Amino acid sequence: MPSPLIETWKQRKPKTEAENLEIIKRLKRKQGKQLDVLADEVHDDVFKKIDCLECAGCCTGIPPIVTRADVTRIAKDFGMRPADFQDKYLMVDEDGDTVMKTTPCPFLESDNKCLIYDIRPRACRQYPHTNYLDFSKNMRLHAPNANICPAVFHILREIERRLDK
Ligand code: SF4
Ligand code: SF4
Repeated sequence: MPSPLIETWKQRKPKTEAENLEIIKRLKRKQGKQLDVLADEVHDDVFKKIDCLECAGCCTGIPPIVTRADVTRIAKDFGMRPADFQDKYLMVDEDGDTVMKTTPCPFLESDNKCLIYDIRPRACRQYPHTNYLDFSKNMRLHAPNANICPAVFHILREIERRLDK
């Protein structure tokens, strides 16, 4: 059965861009260690109720940044020269970052699994940047991500709810 959290997000997200920004504005006033500790707790609680294999929004919608270390690791696993891997799969975007050339990601399989899960880019491991005590540092990402990632949508609202208690 599809996760109720994903269903709620699908129904509500078209109307919530401004709402997401308002939440971020309020949370910015509370930046700091305490907020990051709470965000880690909420992140874990929300991801217990969301199965990424039902979603794949990030792998479908955002080309991840791929670092040189990522290229070396993944190309080695494929038995390719890093330069050949780079030519085949990567490009430099308008911000000067090296990212996957195509979306959906070429390594996303039809069942939403990642073909290179164990060696995936660091950016994929870190997405959606709401835990590891990094929530405050990534504040500018959370509003746009809430429209791509159902977990972020719920994490923002649950953090506010717990702060208001
Ligand atoms: S490398 Fe894997 S986790 Fe990263 S975007 Fe592609 S399919 Fe998703
Ligand atoms: S968008 Fe969020 S919930 Fe969806 S697969 Fe990515 S991390 Fe998981």
